[in-house]
Amino acid sequence: MRFCSSCGASVALKIPDGDTLPRHVCEACGTIHYQNPKVVVGALPEWEDKILLCRRAIEPQYGFWTVPAGFMENRETTAEAAARETEEEARARIEVGALFSLVNIAHISQVHLFYRARLIDLDFGPGTESLEVRLFSEDEIPWEDIAFRSIHFTLKRYFDDRQSGTYGFHTADLAPLQQ
Ligand SMILES: [Zn+2]
Repeated sequence: MRFCSSCGASVALKIPDGDTLPRHVCEACGTIHYQNPKVVVGALPEWEDKILLCRRAIEPQYGFWTVPAGFMENRETTAEAAARETEEEARARIEVGALFSLVNIAHISQVHLFYRARLIDLDFGPGTESLEVRLFSEDEIPWEDIAFRSIHFTLKRYFDDRQSGTYGFHTADLAPLQQ
C-alpha cells in the first residue's frame, strides 16, 4: 500500500504506539490501515454418491478442478458465502450442511472453510468463472488435476469419512511447497 484510502496522502510502514507489528499508517489523517487474513469458503455439493466439481475458467489454476469456493464478502455468513459461490460458479442451489474442514495457509494469510452440502436439484451449469461443471463419483475424481491443496485435502477426508460411515471435522495447516 502506498496511499491512504481515506485521504490520498502517502502512507508509512511503522509500528503504531501500543502495537507489535508494522502497519501502513497515514501521517496526514492518522488512519492505521490494518491488513488481516482472508477467508475462503467452499461447499461439497452432494448428489447421491457424487460430488459437484467445477473446472476453473480463471487463473490461478486455469483448467483445474475445484469445489465451488471463493473469498467471503463483507456482511455475509460463512454458510451464505458457500451458497453464493455455488450459485455463481456452478449455477446450482444447495442446502448447506455441517462444517467439514478448516485449512490454515498462514504463509499466504488465508483460512479456507468447507461445508458439506446437498444439491437441491440437477439444474446446474458453468458460471462465468467455470469452463465446465459436473458430478463425479469417487473413482472419477481427477486427483491429479485438483486446483488447490486445501481442496485435495478436503476431498480425500470426505471420501475417507464416507467409507467409514461417520463424517468428522478436519483441520490442516499447509506449509509452503518445497521447490
Ligand atoms: Zn490518510
